[in-house]
Amino acid sequence: MTAKNIFLSVAIPTPLRRLFDYLPVEITDHRILQPGLRVSVSFGKRKNITGIIVAINNKTNHPRHKLKKINCIIDDKPIVNIEHLNFLNWASNYYHYPIGEVIYNALPILLRKNNSITDYEYYYWSLSNKQSSSDINSKNISLVQIKILNYFQKNKTPINEFELYKIFPRAKRSLLALEKVGLIKKETEKKLENSTKINKRSIKLNENQNTAINKILDLINTNSVFLLDGITGSGKTEVYMSVMESVIKSKKQCLVLLPEIGLTPQLIQRFKDRFKVHMAIQHSGLSASERLKYWQDAKTGKAKIVLGTRSAVWTPLLNPGIYIVDEEHDLSYKQHSGFQYSARDLMIVRANRDGVPAILGSATPSLETIHNTEKNRYIHLVLPVRAGVAKQPKYKLLDIKNKKMHGPLSQILINEIDKNLKTNNQILLFLNRRGYATHLYCHHCCWKAECDRCEIPLTYHKSNNRLNCHHCGSSKKNIKNCPLCASELLRLGHGTERIEEVLSKIFPKSNIARIDRDTTQKKDSMDKYLSKVHSGQIDILIGTQMIAKGHHFPKVTLAAIVDADRGLFSTDFRAGERLAQLFMQVSGRTGRGEREGMVIVQTYNPEHQLFHNLIKHGYNYLAKSLLKERKCSSLPPYSYMALLRVEAHNIEEIKHFIKHASIQLKQLSKNKLLLFGPIPAIIEKHGGRFRYQLIIQATNRKILHEHLDKWLENLEKTKNSKKVRWSLDIDPQDMN
Ligand code: ADP
Ligand code: ZN
Ligand code: ZN
Repeated sequence: MTAKNIFLSVAIPTPLRRLFDYLPVEITDHRILQPGLRVSVSFGKRKNITGIIVAINNKTNHPRHKLKKINCIIDDKPIVNIEHLNFLNWASNYYHYPIGEVIYNALPILLRKNNSITDYEYYYWSLSNKQSSSDINSKNISLVQIKILNYFQKNKTPINEFELYKIFPRAKRSLLALEKVGLIKKETEKKLENSTKINKRSIKLNENQNTAINKILDLINTNSVFLLDGITGSGKTEVYMSVMESVIKSKKQCLVLLPEIGLTPQLIQRFKDRFKVHMAIQHSGLSASERLKYWQDAKTGKAKIVLGTRSAVWTPLLNPGIYIVDEEHDLSYKQHSGFQYSARDLMIVRANRDGVPAILGSATPSLETIHNTEKNRYIHLVLPVRAGVAKQPKYKLLDIKNKKMHGPLSQILINEIDKNLKTNNQILLFLNRRGYATHLYCHHCCWKAECDRCEIPLTYHKSNNRLNCHHCGSSKKNIKNCPLCASELLRLGHGTERIEEVLSKIFPKSNIARIDRDTTQKKDSMDKYLSKVHSGQIDILIGTQMIAKGHHFPKVTLAAIVDADRGLFSTDFRAGERLAQLFMQVSGRTGRGEREGMVIVQTYNPEHQLFHNLIKHGYNYLAKSLLKERKCSSLPPYSYMALLRVEAHNIEEIKHFIKHASIQLKQLSKNKLLLFGPIPAIIEKHGGRFRYQLIIQATNRKILHEHLDKWLENLEKTKNSKKVRWSLDIDPQDMN
């Protein structure tokens, strides 16, 4: 290739689903042109936009004189390697999402701009061995410096400077001063980076755990996918850690996805206690530069363990050894707006491409995953019993029809709570609704408080005396009287605040805590609640799904599902699966210690088949029966689905667009695809816009995707497409 016929295919963050050809700069740039280098280009009206070279070709489909030159090359070396670029490209194709946006989305914020990056070195600080307390007194040091010293004394291990800045903002000068007088010392991270010290496990693994670990290790050099199917507390995390130990010893990296890091500090701590290796942990508190550091440490292989939530699936690795997705069924792995990818599915794709195994762990595997084990695509490993001494809890289906109630709680449940309090046990009450009352209603003229923009009921929050829309987040001041007829309004339907109020009246001496999004706004507030639960300072814990996940509460002996009926009659075909998962998770919170646990389920439908299957035969049995239903109605995983979502203020525009879109697709696909719609979304309005969907279904994945490509190309060009907001969701997980 001579300089004359070199064309750079550049990905640029724009909604257009393609790459753009540019010419290289002519001044002799000593850098070798290669994919993965960022370039600055002008694009449309924008003079200076960051793109990334995806391919270098000697042909172009455009007349040469129409192509622009790039402004400059930004990086010395590619910021991602070709394998990672190929993976991003795969994701762009699969989700039919613009490549430029996919790459942009996958980069840390600091790399999305034109700034160049240098490998940033940071320090780990610790006390120097020399110092003594008389030293400290003899030296003239400030109060902040004393605080820092005290902190070091408490934490014996070296502390990364970023962590220190979080606790002591602007500590840099103090650190340098303390170093000067010889009280503390710094080490470069290199020393720690190369540490592969792994602490010994303090427990003896059981036979099931050993079998699972051995099977995975036998296939550690293959791209097998494992479902680690174990009830909560069965020791899945121990299995992950044993496999990770072996991966790290073979000088490879582990990427571990968790649903929500902020909610699982205990789990992170377990990893930290076990592995004294360089870990990159992603959490919401990371600053832009820490994010870049996190990403670079993973990419350069410094970090042996990379832990993160959904978006961590985009982290490049130098030398991957295992991909782990904990709680694989969790909905948070699917992004719900913009680029709607599934991080779980992408982890499997990555594992496949890299030729290393993936482990999907869950107590309540998704139906897709169970189906894949039935088809022998995944290897099914089972941990059937709780590890250690803990036993399975007992279930009690409580029919609350015509029963005496205290707000949302039946007298029978109150009696059970009382019993457990008397024996000094903890109680957990689960209700997936924040606030005090879910409806404000006029008994006289039937007026209801609704969100103006979404047309769904507003929730009354007593703590701040406001009415909130849980859908679009809008909020207004509470009202006591009907705006139409001035009668006093009724408060119907119960939320977590109401339970808290009822219980504090009945059990005034007990310590009650409520964990939901309202009480955990502040940073660290979740941690504080959790440690209070652990130290036994809390008797009754009330919460939304935030408390259902992952936590280990050894002293909880009674868990109650306050309203089990939500979800029984939903129109979403996955509602049954979700309800069963939640049910199992809540029950997984009880009886995890030495004391036996009980789960009470309040329902108006005690005869419902779902409860019976679940309680009598367990989750797997229920899952299989739900799978049978899906098969009969040809729903996923027995078919492949995509969802066209369309939003607009004007309902006619939507209908017009969807009609046009479906005619196009019908013509293209010649009846190979099934189309349903336009149908309103389950929540038909959001923030003032109407929301409609077109469901596209096929029995074959390839056929679905082939047609979508052509269709989207046409859709983008139609005039009408600018009047509505539309997006395509591949493998949709909810029909909201
Ligand atoms: P899971 O991830 O399946 O919920 P964990 O690995 O967190 O289960 O284990 C639950 C609890 O049981 C933890 O406190 C863990 O230390 C303990 N545990 C795990 N395996 C064993 C074992 N073989 N013997 C004793 N305790 C165990
Ligand atoms: Zn009224
Ligand atoms: Zn609203």
